[in-house]
Amino acid sequence: MAGHSVSDLDENLIARGVLAETTRVFMDRSVAGALTAPVGIVLLAWVQSAASGWGVALTWAFLIGVIELAIVSIGARYHSSVGDDHRVQHLASLQIACAGLVGLAWGSSVWLFWTPGHYLLYLLNLTVLVGVSGVCMIIMSAFRSATLLFSIGILLPPLVQLVYVDNPYAREIAAGLLVLFAVQIRYAREVEQELHRELNNSVRNGALLTQISLARVELHGSNAELEAKNAELQAALTRLNEMVTQDVLTRAFSRRYIFEQLERQVSIRRRHGASVCLVMFDLDHFKSINDHYGHPVGDRALQMVAQIVAGQLREGDMLARVGGEEFLVLLPMTDGAAAFLLADRLRSLLAKTTVTEGAVKIHLPASFGVAELLPEEDVASWFKRVDAALYRAKAMGRNTTVSAEPDEGLTHPAPI
Ligand code: GH3
Ligand code: MG
Ligand code: MG
Repeated sequence: MAGHSVSDLDENLIARGVLAETTRVFMDRSVAGALTAPVGIVLLAWVQSAASGWGVALTWAFLIGVIELAIVSIGARYHSSVGDDHRVQHLASLQIACAGLVGLAWGSSVWLFWTPGHYLLYLLNLTVLVGVSGVCMIIMSAFRSATLLFSIGILLPPLVQLVYVDNPYAREIAAGLLVLFAVQIRYAREVEQELHRELNNSVRNGALLTQISLARVELHGSNAELEAKNAELQAALTRLNEMVTQDVLTRAFSRRYIFEQLERQVSIRRRHGASVCLVMFDLDHFKSINDHYGHPVGDRALQMVAQIVAGQLREGDMLARVGGEEFLVLLPMTDGAAAFLLADRLRSLLAKTTVTEGAVKIHLPASFGVAELLPEEDVASWFKRVDAALYRAKAMGRNTTVSAEPDEGLTHPAPI
């Protein structure tokens, strides 16, 4: 996530964003101002027509109207040029120049409409100019250069006029105008600063939001990747677990896993005293099956044996392959007699089972040993006894089930 902190905002980009926003506000406000200007223009023309006649008044109104039209047209061009920085800058300069021109046009009204002796109308004209300049300076406050040009434009004609025209109150009027314009410019400056602060904040927030959403998209991507990796890992873990706990060929439990379960059963027996039995069986003369029909047939036979035996077990019973063709069946909560019955049923089932190889049916008899876990007995002794019982079953001619004696195998020298 490095690279997505507040401090990493590109200040150049922010500055450009603020300038673009400032230009937009300036253009929109200039156009809005130009569209409402006809009200002031008509008002002033009407007032002054009384002193200088409609001809002059309408000419002035037409001239200033043309400038206002230019402002509207520049605004429209600006909107179709957004994105082209160079052109936008050019249009902004034009609009600023228009601000100066429109100021000059308003200010020049005091010359156009000047009729010696009509002081009341003259004062009325000045009042309208002061009002217009107040409104315009707020409208143009986005760019200080525009407010300055406008105020110089609107101020210059009345001041020059006061020098050249005989006006008994020239000094007082000039001082009043200057003070008024100074106040307005100061106020416009505050409005401009406030506007810039707001625009700066909004551009900065916009940039932050963009970064946050980018970071979120990235995070979503990483999350999906992580989830996929996790799923892969889980699958690998499951496979690994299966490899440790399962015999690959027969899907019975592995030797390692069943011995862990035997340890568990021994401690359960010690704590709760519940009966638990172990059955061990070994296929009879299995080597000859391999020798006669080949290893793949032997493998198929082993798979079939595991499937048949597993199908006979209850939930909680466990079948494991502990050697080539040797299997263990762990029977929790089962006493010796019940285990013997089950083992013998399995034996008779396997004795009837055949694997078909071409036209030949191969029989799969097996010998079974059964041992109930004795109190205080450990796994080694338990396994030794069931192994010895199986050895006895083999010795008794195979395809037989034998129950282990309590001391079974403990003296036996060599189990199978
Ligand atoms: P017994 O009645 O005395 O048990 O005779 P047996 O031929 O079964 O003798 P033993 O148990 O010694 O032979 C085990 C044979 O099992 C040897 C080997 O060919 C075969 N075997 C062991 N593991 C596999 C296996 O994974 N696949 C196949 N097809 N055969 C195996
Ligand atoms: Mg065998
Ligand atoms: Mg064997």
